[in-house]
Amino acid sequence: MKKKVNAIVYWVLLAGLILRCNKSDSPVTPAAWNYESPDKWGSIGYGDCTGKVQSPVNIDTTTTIKTELLALGLHYRNSSWGIIDNGHNIQINVKQTNSLVLEGTAFKVMQFHFHRMSEHKLEGNSYDMEMHIVHQDTISSDLLVVALWIKQGVENPFIKKIWGKLPPVKNSEVLSGDSIRISDVFPASQKYFTYTGSLTTPPCTQGLDWIIFKQPIEVSPDQITQFAQFYPNNERPVQPLNFREVLESK
Ligand SMILES: [Zn+2]
Repeated sequence: MKKKVNAIVYWVLLAGLILRCNKSDSPVTPAAWNYESPDKWGSIGYGDCTGKVQSPVNIDTTTTIKTELLALGLHYRNSSWGIIDNGHNIQINVKQTNSLVLEGTAFKVMQFHFHRMSEHKLEGNSYDMEMHIVHQDTISSDLLVVALWIKQGVENPFIKKIWGKLPPVKNSEVLSGDSIRISDVFPASQKYFTYTGSLTTPPCTQGLDWIIFKQPIEVSPDQITQFAQFYPNNERPVQPLNFREVLESK
């Protein structure tokens, strides 16, 4: 009898577990996402996009905390690279190890890509474009993104090299056949803003650090037009800062 009761309890528990799995534990299959309705990303399978520590944000320098921030240990080098139009962005994959060392932790460059208009705003204003260099600590898997604001101005030789290889078809990487060094595109001043946020595209993974250079870089009007032929508007709207603080290099 006891054995039978145990068996019933077991089956009830198992059935409950299966039902619960079907009801709420199985994730919604993520759907295709786009920039027409970024407010829907949370409801089409990317739950983190409705979190409280999302990116991008507006930076209001009347509320930033001005302090001495750590210098960035740049270990970037000439690297061969490939370019891919992934359907949301133009992405560049560097083939050698490039790292940024911050407080003793080495973050390896995974890829970089571009947005138009800028995603982060400054005092409520957008820049013409924004470049994101996505880094990852290969031990902890923690992410760190370095962002460069881009404004209209003189032609940029680094961007010229990249735009010269803009791929003719989507989802197929084209190898460039030459090399680039990412730090060649950096602004003269490496003063920056920093805060904790998220990826700005689904799955909107939270808890990563952003470093945004205060000084924008320049590209020519033609260079903006060239990118816009691929992606005229691939920027997510700014998200509420909520309780977060933005630090700023003095
Ligand atoms: Zn990005």
